[in-house]
Amino acid sequence: THYTVGPGLPELREKIAKKLHEENGCNYNADEIMVTPGGKYAIYLGVIGLINPGDEVIYFEPGWVSYPAIIESAGGKAVPVRLDFEANFKITRKALDNVYTEKTRMIIINYPNNPTGRTLSTEEAGVFEQFMLDHPDVVLLADDMYERIIFSGAENVCMGSVSSVADRVLTVNGFSKSVAMTGWRIGYLAAPKYMRDVIYKLYQHTLTCVSGMVQKAAEKAFECQDEIESMRQSYERRRDIFINSLNAIDGVECHMPEGAFYAWARFDDTGMNSEEMCEYILTEAKVVGVPGSGYGTDDCCVRFSFAAGEDDLKKAAENIKTAVEKTRKEI
Ligand code: PLP
Repeated sequence: THYTVGPGLPELREKIAKKLHEENGCNYNADEIMVTPGGKYAIYLGVIGLINPGDEVIYFEPGWVSYPAIIESAGGKAVPVRLDFEANFKITRKALDNVYTEKTRMIIINYPNNPTGRTLSTEEAGVFEQFMLDHPDVVLLADDMYERIIFSGAENVCMGSVSSVADRVLTVNGFSKSVAMTGWRIGYLAAPKYMRDVIYKLYQHTLTCVSGMVQKAAEKAFECQDEIESMRQSYERRRDIFINSLNAIDGVECHMPEGAFYAWARFDDTGMNSEEMCEYILTEAKVVGVPGSGYGTDDCCVRFSFAAGEDDLKKAAENIKTAVEKTRKEI
């Protein structure tokens, strides 16, 4: 029933620091970590804490819905970089240079990505690294929320491990996706001491602390390596079933996700926008998707979650196929 130690229980922060070091190659120590009620609040604290009104923050589209809203709530200008479906959302230096101005203060990245399922290759991490070296006033917020869900053969660089720029990288992670504790509301941020001290002022006067029993539960999650691996394998099986079935439908295209648990499906020649398509699929196929417009895209893309049982996924794909075939007959 008591308050707990401000930034998080010391034993939990020690475990997080160890995990970030051993699994992700990041060298944050325990007093550079703050435990938060969910990763979303860690992102909010990081952006509000580090951005001044008028500062520009680069983020990527398609991208997670909350980034522009959080940037704007800090008085910042949200600056999207549109990534190309055909190029499988590859990061290029040119795309960053096109939007950089003297007011650029932060870049927000998210790998494995919601919604595209892309992970961060060494080559693309090198693009961010060089960009940051060329612009010493820019900090990077790495939303690594899905970093435990990476599929066979994919590589994923955590920017906090890139030593030449690590002193300007704020890493966000948590327990919602890695150990499926979404409703427990627990996440964390790791930031170099000078950033952490600024952000902690905001933390102290808004949060005070995170519930002790939830932190104790999160500590237990560090003993669940086998369960985490079997969960990862089951996501991989579900991915294979669902994505292959979607790609077998005429007029539907989906890159094979390298991580996370989302299918980002493009529906060609339907005559509908993404919101109409979602509504249609919900009504006809009884499958819930999220319209691409929410992720900043104009194409007719829909995001589906494959965090569901294999039989349900097979049935969902069959229903989507029937619904899509119907639109094609109508054309
Ligand atoms: N970042 C991304 C990319 C997400 O998809 C989510 C949740 O959906 C979050 C952050 C927030 O996670 P949490 O539930 O820990 O607040």
